[in-house]
Amino acid sequence: QRDNDWDQRFEPAVLRDGHRVEVVANIGQTSEAHTVLESGAEGVGLVRTEFLFLDRDHAPEEEEQYLALKEMIEALEGLPMIVRTMDIGGDKPVSYLGLSELDLSFLGLRGFRLSMARPDLATAQLRAIFRAAEHGPIRLMFPMIASPNDFLRAREMTDKVRREMGGREVELGVMIEVPSAVAMASELAELADFFSIGTNDLTQYALAADRTHPLLAGRADSLHPAVLRLIEQTVQAAHAKGKWVGVCGGLAADPLGALILTGLGVDELSVPPSLVPQIKALLRREELLGLHKLAQKALSQRDPRAVRALRPSH
Ligand code: PEP
Ligand code: MG
Repeated sequence: QRDNDWDQRFEPAVLRDGHRVEVVANIGQTSEAHTVLESGAEGVGLVRTEFLFLDRDHAPEEEEQYLALKEMIEALEGLPMIVRTMDIGGDKPVSYLGLSELDLSFLGLRGFRLSMARPDLATAQLRAIFRAAEHGPIRLMFPMIASPNDFLRAREMTDKVRREMGGREVELGVMIEVPSAVAMASELAELADFFSIGTNDLTQYALAADRTHPLLAGRADSLHPAVLRLIEQTVQAAHAKGKWVGVCGGLAADPLGALILTGLGVDELSVPPSLVPQIKALLRREELLGLHKLAQKALSQRDPRAVRALRPSH
């Protein structure tokens, strides 16, 4: 089966009824970009740019960031790449920015909040991204957006940098990973070009269970119906406004998770490059109607165990 999945990896993930799901890759290193084409991924759904900031004693200059992103987009040979702005804080702490433990906490100055607090860092990163966008189709998205105003700030900051350097326009997306962003999904969908659901954080914030706490690993379960209901709400709100939705969190790479997400109407799954062939093959065996029924059943369960026991009916 594995060999067969591998042989078919360059074929798109088309369900038996013709419904197509885009399967793309998550990457977090320059070198990983070179594995994307070979994996069969149709692009990159998430570049975790934190690799440029972690495990060092000073922030990277614009030039270093530009060179890394340029190498990545060039390695994709024309496929699209979604770059997420720095998601520092929480599980991705840095020592050199003068940030306290409170700042760095999961509820602190995390993700786009740090970009707002440190416009110098944000500007250097955005400049690097717009320079790299001259070399291929780059989209941009922002982590830890908690309200429409957060996204308006992100768009303002981004447009200002772009105009100053005469960069080309790129599509701007919102990461949906804070429950308040789900509650405001209609308003966000009006403002953004696309959504990308970060199920790792959405799960920890929805269930109030730290994603790094070893004793809470069982609790922070993305297959919890509470999380699935938030995802459903997000997809409905986006589609009502004609916007597409990807999922770049770990749930997209879980076999049952990928099936349920597809049944909920998610348009794109972003998974580690090594899992692309398997997720594509899994989807090809299904029909959208069956997955829709599976998803509806999952939404009506009481706990993740019951969800985990479900299978698509053929
Ligand atoms: C997520 O939260 O699901 C996500 C994709 O982002 P990260 O894991 O980098 O926080
Ligand atoms: Mg996240």
